[in-house]
Amino acid sequence: MAPQSVRVTTRGYAVVGALAVVLLLGLGLVVKAFGSDGGQQPAPQATSGHHHTAIIGKAPPQHHLKKAPPQHQATSTPPPSARPHQLHVTGIAGPLTPGSCLSLPPTHGDRSQTVFLDPGHGGHDPGTSGTTSNGTLLYEKTATLAVAKQASKALRADGYTVVMSRTRDSDVVKLPPSDFTGSLFTPHGDHLEILSRIACANAAHASVLVSIHFNSFPDTAVGGAETYYDTSRSFGKSNKRLAQLVQADLMMGFQAAGWAVPDRGTASQTDQSGGALTAEGESYGHLLLLGPHKAGWNDHPSTMPGVLTEPLFLTRPTEADIAASPQGQHVMGLALAHALETFLAHE
Ligand SMILES: [Zn+2]
Repeated sequence: MAPQSVRVTTRGYAVVGALAVVLLLGLGLVVKAFGSDGGQQPAPQATSGHHHTAIIGKAPPQHHLKKAPPQHQATSTPPPSARPHQLHVTGIAGPLTPGSCLSLPPTHGDRSQTVFLDPGHGGHDPGTSGTTSNGTLLYEKTATLAVAKQASKALRADGYTVVMSRTRDSDVVKLPPSDFTGSLFTPHGDHLEILSRIACANAAHASVLVSIHFNSFPDTAVGGAETYYDTSRSFGKSNKRLAQLVQADLMMGFQAAGWAVPDRGTASQTDQSGGALTAEGESYGHLLLLGPHKAGWNDHPSTMPGVLTEPLFLTRPTEADIAASPQGQHVMGLALAHALETFLAHE
């Protein structure tokens, strides 16, 4: 809704006062927009055995991009009928946790199209971790959520409904104690957690999904952006196109900000395990979130095109700096939003 126009009165004070209120409201929105999304979460007790596999020595592909990033409009207050709400998800291993599988309506216009964003890890699963140049510890689950929130904000402002697998530092599904070892998931628990994210994406009837992760490698000099897709699905060509858009927009965002992040390109997961935690996962040969049906392992696979992107290596300090910074999170969020919008515009 447009703000009410200021009536011209003989008393200038009213006009000045109204302008001051508008200015203050504007400042409030800006402060809100760049608020606490990137805040550090309390450190978990231990890190999980992480599943990301770096592919080193690959020559980066060259992208020739001309498109400018999209301009995002300021948000307006949604009507009461379109407030964020948790979706009803069936066939998962337990109840959804508060703030998980949340549907977030558009904040400006409505394209009647839904995007599913999955901030990798969360809650009992910290993902990988790294330290910034000044020695600050950063967990993958913290950075993925911050980037997803930035992407969500941009997409909603452009008229898209966004469903987020989680909006807090939490698991998506509440699992029984037998699915944990100490404070971390067992491989079985990890499997059920990812299945619940697939179920959420499917319940959302999303047109597209993006799972956000960050990479790690023992050699802290290794870095770069990489995006995975699965060509084995019926929408495998769309997956590849989305992966290329996501990768290109991330690289363009990093380059525009002056950050030297190597372009590791896109990679098909069809013949790779994606660093599965178990022999059964290894034999599946796909990333669970993106992969095809396999009875007893992935009975209800994701029903829409999707990618899993790893924009940075947290183990490379200069890249951890980007992942930890509100500016870096904003750049990545806008890049993902732009890639998704470009994808949907031509799907
Ligand atoms: Zn991850």
